[in-house]
Amino acid sequence: MRRWNGWGDDSFSLGLPRTGEDFLAARIGHSSALQDVTLASVCAKVPQSRLGQGRPAGIELTTDAETRVRHARGQSLPDWLAMRSGQIDCFPDAVAFPRSSSEVRELLAFASANSLHLIPYGGGTSVAGHINPLDLGHPVITVSMVAMNRLLDLDPASQVATFGAGTTGPQVESQLRAHGLTLGHFPQSFELSTIGGWVASRSSGQQSLRYGRTSPPPAPGPTCAS
Ligand SMILES: Cc1cc2nc3c(=O)[nH]c(=O)nc-3n(C[C@H](O)[C@H](O)[C@H](O)COP(=O)(O)OP(=O)(O)OC[C@H]3O[C@@H](n4cnc5c(N)ncnc54)[C@H](O)[C@@H]3O)c2cc1C
Repeated sequence: MRRWNGWGDDSFSLGLPRTGEDFLAARIGHSSALQDVTLASVCAKVPQSRLGQGRPAGIELTTDAETRVRHARGQSLPDWLAMRSGQIDCFPDAVAFPRSSSEVRELLAFASANSLHLIPYGGGTSVAGHINPLDLGHPVITVSMVAMNRLLDLDPASQVATFGAGTTGPQVESQLRAHGLTLGHFPQSFELSTIGGWVASRSSGQQSLRYGRTSPPPAPGPTCAS
């Protein structure tokens, strides 16, 4: 399962090699790692959701504490320190999982009618605080695009592909590879980041010199279903 307070998967841990420890000790002295707080202890501190009884009909949405914790922070150093120390001051009030563009439009209309703030959430790999909710006096719904992860259209002649906005790097490449194609976009966050996040942040990758960096539509190249 995806690690809740850092990068990657729980099943994989990479310790600091002895040479690294010696290097640091020689420069800043010996130290011991701070104790991480547990996921359960952070979940216990999540306040009650401010979302009222009204819900957008037919759209998967949860106010479950663990899901809110898992969508509260990105992957910057301040985010990691907040998660590992448990000092998280604000959580989304709910997390929604739309399955189509029309469900996204319904969520937007619901938010507008009820004075809610929405935060689009792709892979949550932002290192700039983009996806962290702020306490601005309105309930916040984080909108996870995880269910919109498919190749929707591919024109073989122009090689323009349309994907669901929540399609991750590996999902993009595996679906294009079935047609003998590649997107050629390999940011270092490739495993977890998504088409929607790449477009919103104009992401660059290791092959950008060859294939170009991500540009928002209508620039030539694969486009993102909103
Ligand atoms: C280890 C690591 C390596 C990284 N390497 C690179 C790199 O090589 N190149 C690079 O450019 N960046 C890199 N990044 C930064 C980050 O991965 C990119 O900014 C990436 O594009 C974010 O994609 P995401 O799907 O995770 O978006 P998120 O972090 O979920 O969101 C980023 C922003 O996009 C918005 N957003 C997401 N989806 C949508 C949508 N469907 N519609 C509208 N807005 C949306 C969010 O609201 C937020 O403002 C790295 C980050 C980490 C942690």
